[in-house]
Amino acid sequence: MSSTASKSRHARLLQRTSTPMLEMIEKQRGSTTSKSETGSTLHQSSQDLVETVGHDGGVGMGTSDGFTFFMDTDELTTSSPSLLVEQQTSTDLKSDTSTSKRRKHKDGKQKSFDELDVDKYMAKREMSPFQERMNAVTVMPGAFYCIMFVLSGAWLSPSFVQDHSKSVMAAAPFDDTQCLNWSWMPHLHAAPPLPLVAAALGIVAHAPFSFIYHWKFAHRLPAGLPRTNHWSRRMDQAMIHFCSACMAYATSGRLDFFLVNALFNLDCIYRHFIPKVYPRRNQMRIFLSLVAYTIPLLRRGDWDLFVKLWSLFTVSGWLFGQYPIGGWSHSVFHIVMAFVPPLLMTAAVELPASHKQLEVAAQCALLAKDNLVVS
Ligand SMILES: [Zn+2]
Repeated sequence: MSSTASKSRHARLLQRTSTPMLEMIEKQRGSTTSKSETGSTLHQSSQDLVETVGHDGGVGMGTSDGFTFFMDTDELTTSSPSLLVEQQTSTDLKSDTSTSKRRKHKDGKQKSFDELDVDKYMAKREMSPFQERMNAVTVMPGAFYCIMFVLSGAWLSPSFVQDHSKSVMAAAPFDDTQCLNWSWMPHLHAAPPLPLVAAALGIVAHAPFSFIYHWKFAHRLPAGLPRTNHWSRRMDQAMIHFCSACMAYATSGRLDFFLVNALFNLDCIYRHFIPKVYPRRNQMRIFLSLVAYTIPLLRRGDWDLFVKLWSLFTVSGWLFGQYPIGGWSHSVFHIVMAFVPPLLMTAAVELPASHKQLEVAAQCALLAKDNLVVS
């Protein structure tokens, strides 16, 4: 028997049988491992097997080690293993063993495993229209803070300007065309440093999409697939990845690190626009994008900021996943996340990559002060 035939035969067996799932997994592990061409790489654990079954009867690789696992599950149904076991077992107990009947189940009136997974996932997240509107409102403070922080020139501290005035740089010839002189923004002396712009851009670009989804659509669309599939929800999540890509520059100030992260996040964004929705895979990718952009903090030894950020991520992840205060949990999740942008923007300003532009701004601030004294 060829390897492929063997694999699909075992996957079919697993779908049809009324034998308890775990018992079957043990049998499967034994037989497939011995027959597989790739030897021990397939079906290393019961989790792999469950994920394998989700793949339309095909066989996936299913290594469970971090990033590989996450990449390999791309083509799989990444339902929670326990949920799949539950669905699989109950469906199988009721179902006939014929393939035609199974197809009818998958393609006909009844819902597929993916749909059941998405339905269960979304049912936990039912909120009243008022609560959804609060979700929309609570996403805005973070974005407004970013805009204000950048435009108010708060990123240029008076102590930095003072230190700069004592340095040799302040006495050197200076091209003042780099200075901004806007009466309506008197403290914005020059363009902000690029890492700071990246941090603010990421937060500000995501906010409107999250607002539109929560304010206008989330409470109008029926729970389950109609809501999960809606463009506003897809855009909300896709823009989180845009934000993560921007943050990769904000935390590192390095173009190469940004480009690698941008590629990964672009791939994630692309996956938000394919017809099937995989909530668990999407969450895993968002989690990885956060891990990726906080790595530069560790590299610099900025443990303080790293711990602060991950404390906020942990609390908000708990609020997002567990719904400890019912329909208000998502609003509180947004409020906790609103503490992230100030931390990241301050870190972006302190990067070596921001230093040159800070000096330009400090010089402009000194010139502006001189002009004020002269006039
Ligand atoms: Zn939200």
